[in-house]
Amino acid sequence: MRQIAIYGKGGIGKSTTTQNLIAALAQRGRRVMLVGCDPKADSTRLILGKPAQETVLDVLSRCGEDEVELEQILQTGYLGIRAVESGGPEPGVGCAGRGIITAIHLLEELGGYDQALDYVFYDVLGDVVCGGFAMPIREGKAREIYIVCSGEMMALYAANNICKGIRRYAETGAVRLGGLICNQRLVERERELVEEFAQALGTRLLYFLPRDKVVQRAELRRQTVLEYAPESAQAEEYRRLAALIDGNETFSVPNPLTPEGLEELVSRYCL
Ligand code: ADP
Ligand code: MG
Repeated sequence: MRQIAIYGKGGIGKSTTTQNLIAALAQRGRRVMLVGCDPKADSTRLILGKPAQETVLDVLSRCGEDEVELEQILQTGYLGIRAVESGGPEPGVGCAGRGIITAIHLLEELGGYDQALDYVFYDVLGDVVCGGFAMPIREGKAREIYIVCSGEMMALYAANNICKGIRRYAETGAVRLGGLICNQRLVERERELVEEFAQALGTRLLYFLPRDKVVQRAELRRQTVLEYAPESAQAEEYRRLAALIDGNETFSVPNPLTPEGLEELVSRYCL
């Protein structure tokens, strides 16, 4: 079973990319579980085809830990993909990581990490420097990380920060970076910029995903592009990304850039 965490700045396209990617993996016959680790709890709606799933923390606030059953926190969606939302506290209250750790422990207790699974994906908000967000790594679950970014400064800044976290945990654990996924924002020479950034980090640009309106059209119907428009060019993009991840054997411990190094790199492309 491969356990993969997808990190990246808020709004960059983590949940959209992750759900389309796992839908493509499921089309390849892979058995997948998705664990949403964003307090927004909107990581699974395209897989389940409904607005929001009840989160692990919500279920636990209704009934005691001893009474909870797997079916209450885990639902099944498109092509049998299993989906869990960890949930989080009200904004400004408590630690956002609590939902993640609670979800992981409860899934363990209730047999959610079924040996029949090929993949578990964690969709993790990663622009906040908080130990809570490192939970899937700290708990020894996700050993493989992919970072979703774009050519925008703040997306690269967040990606660089995430690399600092990965580096720290790589010293004591088995976590490795599998590469960057650039979700196009139509920044000048975006592919070249992110390629150079990846090289400076000691990783690679695994895939450059184009922007396409079909993503939003599918989203309005609460579907992945793979389900809504399987013949579209964008569906093919996600299938290619899925094939790359399915076959990826190249992993590294990233070397984060200094703030000056990052600014210098971006400014060379912004002129
Ligand atoms: P995150 O999970 O990182 O916060 P989301 O996955 O929710 O971000 O994406 C934010 C918005 O960007 C969504 O409305 C989604 O439809 C849109 N989006 C993401 N990827 C693409 C893409 N490749 N083309 C067009 N729109 C996209
Ligand atoms: Mg999200």
